[in-house]
Amino acid sequence: MKEILVIGAGAAGIMAALAAAEAGARVHLFEKNDIVGKKMGITGKGRCNLTNSCSMADFIAHTPGHGKFLYSAYEQFTNQDLLDKLHTWGLATKEERGGRIFPQSDSAIEVRKLFYRKLCQKGVDLHLSNAVHAVKAWGSRMVVSAASGNYEGDACIITTGGMSYPVTGSTGDGYGFARSLGHSVTELKPSLIPFTTEETWPHTLSGLSLRNVEASLWKRGKKAASHFGEMLFTHFGVSGPIILMLSTEAAHKKSCVFPMQLRIDLKPALSKEKLDARLRRDFEKYIRKEAANGLKDLLPQRLIPIVLDQAGIAAACPVNQISREQRQDLVDTLKALSTAS
Ligand SMILES: Cc1cc2nc3c(=O)[nH]c(=O)nc-3n(C[C@H](O)[C@H](O)[C@H](O)COP(=O)(O)OP(=O)(O)OC[C@H]3O[C@@H](n4cnc5c(N)ncnc54)[C@H](O)[C@@H]3O)c2cc1C
Repeated sequence: MKEILVIGAGAAGIMAALAAAEAGARVHLFEKNDIVGKKMGITGKGRCNLTNSCSMADFIAHTPGHGKFLYSAYEQFTNQDLLDKLHTWGLATKEERGGRIFPQSDSAIEVRKLFYRKLCQKGVDLHLSNAVHAVKAWGSRMVVSAASGNYEGDACIITTGGMSYPVTGSTGDGYGFARSLGHSVTELKPSLIPFTTEETWPHTLSGLSLRNVEASLWKRGKKAASHFGEMLFTHFGVSGPIILMLSTEAAHKKSCVFPMQLRIDLKPALSKEKLDARLRRDFEKYIRKEAANGLKDLLPQRLIPIVLDQAGIAAACPVNQISREQRQDLVDTLKALSTAS
């Protein structure tokens, strides 16, 4: 009987341990936490987005970097295979907007408990609260040194996760194990993360979300990446779907070296000419008001003073005194509300 040593009981380690056990191996699964799948418990805002119903080609297309690397893995185990397995194990699922699949119960904890039960049923030797501190190769055998002692096996699977949310146990230990075994490890970069801004104006807008805007990253006057959709201001900078996507794209582009300038096109659907025409109409309507009031049909209230400030127009300036040049500056700002370069 083959003996397999698996380090880390997250989603990957649990699936690897179960697959090895189902194939008839004796499996040791080491986990530094006192439960399995701790990170799984916080996924999908506590609901666990299990998979997506899109095609495997779409999975690859949406994988940043070298997605094609996953072809052979996806050939052997698809999203449908995962769902078939979960359904056989008694987990009911549902599909939501964008093909996202969740447990019917909306509970990530239910998924974690299901995996724990399966590990016990399949006879996997679970070593909880048992951190591994070294992995060595002895000829054709592998030796794992854990808190409770040394374990020998025919193969070792390192599934210690990445480095995000280290409180869940994912502290990057696996990179060291892989290096010590002679593997090369690529440079680590954060991905799917919000941005902090040095300037404080985004912080003052904390809680404000913008839809249908285009956010872009710039370095030395050159656009490096951009995304269209929804974003959010936070007490430290910016977040939301398009910002997370920008961070992922930035992690894979050499031209993206932080700090970078963030520009927000507040009206991407309008050309500068059309935006100017729109401003003229609004200013006609609010001819006797102050500049801040002249923009109330175009922008969220909280954004108006920031936009006027970047355009160099006083909020109290009467609309009928805004010059053509100032209106052009306003158009430029609406097309590129920016942090410093
Ligand atoms: C807030 C948040 C929400 C997310 N939502 C989703 C979602 O809805 N759907 C989705 O598919 N993905 C989601 N993800 C991503 C998902 O959590 C990860 O892709 C997934 O957890 C990776 O699984 P893993 O098994 O590779 O690593 P991990 O889940 O990180 O598991 C690694 C395990 O290894 C253990 N370990 C580490 N070092 C050692 C050691 N030396 N000895 C013993 N054990 C060790 C850790 O304690 C940990 O339990 C989310 C991530 C975050 C942070």
